[in-house]
Amino acid sequence: MCGIVGIVDAGGVSFPLYYALYALQHRGQESAGISTFEGTTLHTHKAQGLVAEVFNSQTLQDLPGNAGIGHVRYPTTGSKVSENVQPFNFRYRGLNLSIAHNGNLVNTAELREEYERRGQIFCTTTDTEIMGNIIADALRTSKSMEDAVLLCMRRLRGSYATVALLNDTVYAFRDPLGIKPLCIGKLDNGYIVASESVAIDALDGTFVRDVRPGELVRIDESGLTSIQIATANRKAYCIFEYIYFARADSVIDGTLVYDVRRRIGQKLYDTCPIEGDTVCPVPDSGIAYAAGYAKQSGIPFLEGLMKNRYMGRTFIMPTQQQRERAVRIKLNTVRGNLKDKRVVLIDDSIVRGTTSRRIVNMIRDAGAEEVHLRVGSPPIIAPCYLGVDMPTRTELIASGKEVEAVRKSIGATSLTYIPLEDLVEAIGCGERNLCTGCLTGCYPVEINNEKNCHCIVDYGAGTHQSDLSTFRAGKGRT
Ligand code: AMP
Repeated sequence: MCGIVGIVDAGGVSFPLYYALYALQHRGQESAGISTFEGTTLHTHKAQGLVAEVFNSQTLQDLPGNAGIGHVRYPTTGSKVSENVQPFNFRYRGLNLSIAHNGNLVNTAELREEYERRGQIFCTTTDTEIMGNIIADALRTSKSMEDAVLLCMRRLRGSYATVALLNDTVYAFRDPLGIKPLCIGKLDNGYIVASESVAIDALDGTFVRDVRPGELVRIDESGLTSIQIATANRKAYCIFEYIYFARADSVIDGTLVYDVRRRIGQKLYDTCPIEGDTVCPVPDSGIAYAAGYAKQSGIPFLEGLMKNRYMGRTFIMPTQQQRERAVRIKLNTVRGNLKDKRVVLIDDSIVRGTTSRRIVNMIRDAGAEEVHLRVGSPPIIAPCYLGVDMPTRTELIASGKEVEAVRKSIGATSLTYIPLEDLVEAIGCGERNLCTGCLTGCYPVEINNEKNCHCIVDYGAGTHQSDLSTFRAGKGRT
């Protein structure tokens, strides 16, 4: 889970990249970084911490140039060490390459072994460095980013939305199934590509369209061009982006996330209508769902929980006792809205169950008569290998358990999940175009010892003329 951005803008890019990363902060809080290019020099500033902690006006002024990329990281592969902070830089014979990646490769171990056997030394433990090596390898022989990305798409298995800065040109590409989001926006003096449209909004830009699965986009001072590198017989948009991960004000692959969540809330009521006195969201992730539920049921929306938005990351607390106290500081009950009420509590998902258990307890302690938990995703029964931080099956509360057993463990009066069909309908692009691995245990890419819902990818389908012009039309494929 990470956020990426690439900008080419005649007015300089370091400040716009910073604001865009700020808008994407929810996608990763572990580290942040920006690379820019000016003249013949690649400039990078990156460190562990939040965007506001990593950058200040001086560090941004020290990042000159009209082309650049940025990254916020939530580690899903590689440990939380400073070497793993992106973007990564590669220099070879006058070419300066910097790359940043959102997603997760599942064949990293094989590829790494192959490259190590060939004498390659790795400086980090991330899958992104493998991608950088494949690109650098291809550029050594062909100098064409198109060939490099074609090689990536042929060799990499997994999810990748990637931005790359090659000298003063920004490239962006998305894996052939489009698992992780990536979109294009127009700025006054250039273009932006970013994980979510909220980054475009933050710069007052205009949303153009999503980067297509398997597409390579190129942005330089003369504008934006694109080419289709690979095509697949289906898409596999990450369903968890809609459920939890993306910001509700983002439009992902043509759909406003807030609308999806509101529709899910409506369907949650229709699935299992119940009488209640208040519809209460778990902030902030449950708010849009609760709005939909309240509208459909006619039960008043009333906040029974308040989040302290100024609370830092809880993992920095050194002891368990301090961490538990930190959670209470983060979330508190509005007693007057809960006492003697039959509360319909709405949240996006239950993963380990610890959050829900704690919240249900808090609401009961505040004097609620009943707590009916309604969940905006079906039971999460399998891990995510493709970029969302999910625990193993044994840690997932719903894995191998009936709903009634989960309800008991959480302590709710009743518990209902949204059925998968309703969730898919609320998103609107069809189950065939979604990755539902965490909900079904069937994954769109081959993963050892897991079920695979087969996808066919064509790497030589010929150049697809996008609505923007291609930049190397007619080139034959190897
Ligand atoms: P828990 O059931 O205690 O594991 O917590 C689940 C809650 O954490 C959900 O209601 C989400 O709001 C949030 N959540 C879901 N997935 C993730 C994730 N991958 N990383 C961080 N928080 C998550």
